[in-house]
This record gives sequence, structure tokens and C-alpha cells, in this order.
Amino acid sequence: MKDVTAGFTSLASVLGGQKPTTTRTTDRPLTPEERATAQWLLRNSPEFLPQLDHVRVTGQCSCGCPTLDLRVADNQPRVQQSERTIAEAYGEIEGKLVRVILLQSRGHLVRLEAWYPDANEHPARLPDVKSLMSI
Ligand SMILES: [Zn+2]
Repeated sequence: MKDVTAGFTSLASVLGGQKPTTTRTTDRPLTPEERATAQWLLRNSPEFLPQLDHVRVTGQCSCGCPTLDLRVADNQPRVQQSERTIAEAYGEIEGKLVRVILLQSRGHLVRLEAWYPDANEHPARLPDVKSLMSI
């Protein structure tokens, strides 16, 4: 039985997996790896790129994986886009396929998520940017 303590909130995840996903509240800038991954995913949606300078990581998956909730400062322009998914990609970690997805809501970046599609599990880290391939 996992101890779900204060600071964790339940979160509806795109995983739809067996385990409930929880999010640990945080407030920090993107790491260089997270930023590089987001930049790669935005290569065909450059209108979102300026938001990378104004985004905070507000939540992190409690399992220690690189799945993140993002919040762009309210005063940043919103991109006109109705589709929630901005970009999806496959990458590789030690020979295992990892899926990475970047989501928006009301024109702001809101989530970066990574999981093993074969196992429906979260990886311990993001795949190398060099391994990313478009879906
Ligand atoms: Zn996770």
C-alpha cells in the first residue's frame, strides 16, 4: 500500500493505466534535458517556442519518471490551437521504445509525458533527444 501524503494530488493521466497516477507539486524551471526534448517536439510548432522561456514545472509524477505538468505565465500570448496534442514522438532508452507527448491547453504548454507503450509503465528518465523520431 502506497502512502499518499499531503502534496500529492490525483491526476487524470493519458496513460489510462492500472495504477493511479499522482503528481508531486513543485515549482522550478525546465532542466536542460526537458527543454531540449520540448524544443525537439516543437520543431513543427515553433509558435509555442517562446513559452519555453516563461514556463515553470508545477508538477512531477510521483513515481520519479520525467512526466511533468507545466504552467506558462498568464501574461504570455496563447497559440491558436484546438488540438490538445502538440506533438508525439518515439525515443529509446537502453533499447526500449519510449513514447513522448507534449500537450497544450488554451494555447499554453501544460504537460510533457513519457511512458513505455509496450509495458504501460513510466521510464526513469527522458530518452536522449538524438533518439527521438516522429510518429
Ligand atoms: Zn510516472
